Amino acid sequence: MHAGSTVHGVLQAWSLSRWRREPFATERFKALFNGQWKALQAETRINWEGEEEAERASSWRALEHYFIETPIRADERPEAVEVSVSADLSAHGLPALIGIIDLVRAGGRIVDFKLVAKTPDVEMVVHTTEVQLTAYSILYRDATGRMEAGLELHHLVRTKAPKLIITSLPPATEQKHARLFRQLESYQEGVARRDFVPAPGFACLGCEFFSECRLYR
Ligand code: SF4
Repeated sequence: MHAGSTVHGVLQAWSLSRWRREPFATERFKALFNGQWKALQAETRINWEGEEEAERASSWRALEHYFIETPIRADERPEAVEVSVSADLSAHGLPALIGIIDLVRAGGRIVDFKLVAKTPDVEMVVHTTEVQLTAYSILYRDATGRMEAGLELHHLVRTKAPKLIITSLPPATEQKHARLFRQLESYQEGVARRDFVPAPGFACLGCEFFSECRLYR
C-alpha cells in the first residue's frame, strides 16, 4: 500500500512533466520518490519488521525500469493525467459514477498503473480489473463524447530483476457496460435493504471494515 502510493505519486509527476513537456531527469524523480516515501511513512507509522529498505529499493528499481522500458514515447503528450471524472447514470436509475483515471494517453488510451510483487497472470488480471476498467470506459465516454482507443494496464513488477508487463485491451464492449450497470443495480439494491454479505478474499487485506466484519458473525 505504502510502496504503491509512493510509486503512484511519482508516476503522476512523471506523466505531468510529459504533459508540460519538461525534460526528463531521473534525479528529480528519485528525490520525489524518497521525499514521498518519508512523508507517507510519517503519516502511517508502519511496522516494517526490517523490510523497509528492501521494499524501498525494489520499488525504486521497478520505477527506474519503467522509465526505461515504458512504451510511451518521450514526445507523446498525455490527454489527461490523474483526472477526476464523474458520470451521471440517472438515466439507468443509478447514482453518479465517480473515479480518478491515472493517465489517458494521446488518442484516448486509458492507462492504469499497478505496482506488484509478482508477475501477474494475464487472464486473472483481465478478470479482476474488469469492473475498474469498464468504469473508466464509461467515465471517459461520458466526459469526452468519444470512445476510448483502448485500455492498458502497466504492471511494474518489483521482483529482484524488475519487469514491466503491459496488458493492452480493446475498448470496453456494450455488453461489458450493461454488465457493470446490472452489477451496480445489484449493489445499490443490496445496500438499500442492508444486505451486507461478507466475501472474504484478497480484498480483506486492505479493507477498512475488517474489524467490524470479524465481529459480525
Ligand atoms: S473484511 Fe472487508 S473485504 Fe473482507 S469480507 Fe469483510 S467487508 Fe468484505
